[in-house]
Amino acid sequence: MNPVKPVFRILEQTHQPTMLELLNNYTPFQLLVMTMLSARTKDTTTIPIVKEMFKNYPHPKDYVNLPVEKIEQLIYRVGFHRVKAKHLKQLSRIIQTKYQGKVPETFEELILLPGIGRKTANCILNYAFNKSTIAVDIHVHRIANRLGWIDTKTPEETEQELQRTVPREEWINANKLLVGHGQTICSPIKPKCDECAIKRYCNYGLRGKIDLLPNHKWWGFLAQQLFKFSL
Ligand code: SF4
Repeated sequence: MNPVKPVFRILEQTHQPTMLELLNNYTPFQLLVMTMLSARTKDTTTIPIVKEMFKNYPHPKDYVNLPVEKIEQLIYRVGFHRVKAKHLKQLSRIIQTKYQGKVPETFEELILLPGIGRKTANCILNYAFNKSTIAVDIHVHRIANRLGWIDTKTPEETEQELQRTVPREEWINANKLLVGHGQTICSPIKPKCDECAIKRYCNYGLRGKIDLLPNHKWWGFLAQQLFKFSL
């Protein structure tokens, strides 16, 4: 029996909405911007910033003429705000001029926008356009590996392997359920396995394995992985 479905049914019972679910009444452009800004930034920091910013600047055309310094001021509390401000201005110009102000609905077009990687493109297809994709961030990667569904090192490998493991009709649930679980129970360090509703399905939880943080090489590897999974 495929292990994914019973796990997802349990996670639905304990699920806490993620940022993109909480703000699902926002436009595809706004969801794109908030996903880009949330990379390596806590949702609790990103949410109030974007809510305030979209009150005054809701459309891509608003950012086309806004000086990049002003955008930096608006988002200065998010991580890497300077580079994100530049990307926000550039992608707004492309969306405004090439796509008449509408966010494109294909992976191939989204991935070409400045600052948009596979994860963000798949998130937008998933959350804004209700398309079947698996958006792999650090939570999805970590939990799928701990559960023993896959054995992978990079986000690309994880995406490919999950596409094989997760039944197609469940792809749309994968990001929200695993991210929600990662933010509340299955944290990177010291996951709360004793409180976890899916422990009986989890290789890691059943083995009682602890996270080992052996040396600073590991931290370097972790920093690289965080960067890869954040786009
Ligand atoms: S048992 Fe532990 S490692 Fe496995 S999913 Fe639950 S919290 Fe994560």
